[in-house]
Amino acid sequence: MIDTHTHPYLEQFEDGGAEAVRRAIDAGVTHLVLPNVDGSSIAPMKRLHSIFPEHTSMAMGLHPTEVGEDWESVVDDMERFLDTGGYVGVGEVGMDLYWDKSRKEEQMQAFGRQLRIAERLKLPVIIHCREALDETLEVIGSVNPGVPLIFHSFTGSVEDVEKIRKICNPMFGINGVVTFKNAHSIREALPIIGQDNILLETDAPYLAPVPYRGKRNEPAYVVSTCKKVAEVLGLSAEKVEAITDRNAIHTFNL
Ligand SMILES: [Zn+2]
Repeated sequence: MIDTHTHPYLEQFEDGGAEAVRRAIDAGVTHLVLPNVDGSSIAPMKRLHSIFPEHTSMAMGLHPTEVGEDWESVVDDMERFLDTGGYVGVGEVGMDLYWDKSRKEEQMQAFGRQLRIAERLKLPVIIHCREALDETLEVIGSVNPGVPLIFHSFTGSVEDVEKIRKICNPMFGINGVVTFKNAHSIREALPIIGQDNILLETDAPYLAPVPYRGKRNEPAYVVSTCKKVAEVLGLSAEKVEAITDRNAIHTFNL
């Protein structure tokens, strides 16, 4: 199984994430995609990747909630890293108007610029979109980068999926939210998304699936999300694992 979006290198993991990666491997989660967050998360991400070069892959980008006044120079640095190679994607990037609406323009500019970098390097883009679907689609539509896109941590409705597909045809990263009792809309959307467009992820340390809800999430728990997706789609967990592994390998060129 592959956790296509996880941050075990963040400070919530005391040891830089090495034990969590070992527990994931023991649980059958044999590959992890590590998206970057900001300038300060690059070193810990690289450190964890250097310990598990076969079991982890890195993506590079500036998260929308971390877009500050200095975003251009931060993205310049990230572009230099991307140019050296060794990254499977640009991310995580996108739009987040849940926490702070004041930097909407800067977020749109930073997202557009990073989409163009992905287009130049022919890399897939891991997109974070929270309370900003129209703005996110506006930027995607204006750049139209022609590379695979991933709407990570997707918790939207059937209507949201249809709206997105008028602009692009992305993969959808499904995480522990799908196991939450009240998350009816994403469960209804899964058959519309379809098995060939689903990636499994944790977004650890956030959004732990049931039965770990409320605890620190970790990559091993993606197994619970796989079981729930299988139940909703009426497939075996083995089948969903095989399909989503194939989807991830194809999307990220693993
Ligand atoms: Zn994330």
